[in-house]
Amino acid sequence: MIVMKFGGTSVADGAAMRRVIDIVLGHADLKPLVVCSACAGVTNKLIEVADAALQADEATVGQLTESLRARHLEAAAELLLNAAEPLRRETAAQIEELSAELKRLAEGVVLLRECTPRSRAAILSFGERLSTLIVAAGFRAAGRDCRLLDARELMLTDSVYLNAAADLAETRKRCKKAIQPLLESGCLVVTQGFIGADARNVTTTNGRGGGDLSAAIFGAALGVAEIQIWTDVSGVYTTDPRLAPNARTIARITFDEVGELAYFGARVLHPDTIRPAVADAIPVRVRNTFDAEHEGTLLVPDALPDVDGIRAVAIRKRVILLSFAMRSANRTSRFLAGVYNSLVNLGIEALAAQGSEHHYVLCLEDADAAASLAREFREFADVDISEAAVLCAVGPRVAGADGAAVVARLAQVLQPFEALFVQHHVGNISILAAVPAERGDEALRAAHDLIS
Ligand code: ASP
Ligand code: MG
Repeated sequence: MIVMKFGGTSVADGAAMRRVIDIVLGHADLKPLVVCSACAGVTNKLIEVADAALQADEATVGQLTESLRARHLEAAAELLLNAAEPLRRETAAQIEELSAELKRLAEGVVLLRECTPRSRAAILSFGERLSTLIVAAGFRAAGRDCRLLDARELMLTDSVYLNAAADLAETRKRCKKAIQPLLESGCLVVTQGFIGADARNVTTTNGRGGGDLSAAIFGAALGVAEIQIWTDVSGVYTTDPRLAPNARTIARITFDEVGELAYFGARVLHPDTIRPAVADAIPVRVRNTFDAEHEGTLLVPDALPDVDGIRAVAIRKRVILLSFAMRSANRTSRFLAGVYNSLVNLGIEALAAQGSEHHYVLCLEDADAAASLAREFREFADVDISEAAVLCAVGPRVAGADGAAVVARLAQVLQPFEALFVQHHVGNISILAAVPAERGDEALRAAHDLIS
């Protein structure tokens, strides 16, 4: 068994859904559970529906719900162009039914003039319910045995309606019972990402972008061999291709490495969004619906000692560097305790920190916070604030003796860009380097060229 999760762009319209059908049928022997997001942009539109309803703006509610109805009818008509008439009719009728239900719900909000998180979650659930209905019909049109299972009967959650957490044990039980036998018998199963229900059967959602988390939960529940996240990029790149044209996709990367890249600005799948997969060490493959031949990138739990130096490099721009040169070295700990106390009081996290006896550098996101910290500690240290770009290079051997050589090479290529520091980062799976903000892109390209 595998999970194949398709994001919003992958099911944006009838043509995209056709690709999804073909891709899944090409993997049918792996017994896939298909998890779909709402069609691209639909969740945003549903938020607009809820907002307009709350404002009692009936005209906007009417327009929005009508355009959602039309959009889904059109996607179905396109996908089912050559399907048998009864299937086309039945699918259209189901879309009409869900659209009418959405409209009634929104009108209820208009009347009540309140939109609780519970009502909002109910409204948001229609995106995934509509998209999966159409995709499932697509499999039937292709002559496949396919069951559409309502995620609200599989995914038990708490009652935090817009950010619900799953009860993994109960969800596992339900999935084993409802999904596994179907998959084992060769039936395709389609369900929704993002939605679930609490113990009283009230609809919940697991937060924006929660489709990936749903896929990870279903994958962990079924103990699948692989979770595939199908999106509109061909995997994780060696760096952002918009900044370095010679960037390329990486065949394999570890969860830890990809987490570091995400933290330092890369727009990659963050391991936090697929926690249950990481916890159960289930490999996750990121693939491109619009380039289905491409193998994508496999995210794996264990270290991969397969490259020599750097595997990938990310850049976080507009980082505020706050440097302290302490006047009295023997008070360092007390001084730092004060600084960290202030950070806690200001409610801010340092992105990274680097220190030696007299010098300490904090990387912060917030310029105002940096300024107030600087004011507070000027009495005890010479304080300097500058704007920097922070590069984060990950790779299997950046730690230890080999790592020293990697750091040295990086320091050498970054020297022309007036690197402010080049250092190992915590946990030693990455190297951080800071350069003046305006040199960031060039420095990134130079560091990226070190990847063999
Ligand atoms: N449809 C939801 C959203 O747009 C969940 C997802 O697509 O991951 O936030
Ligand atoms: Mg997403």
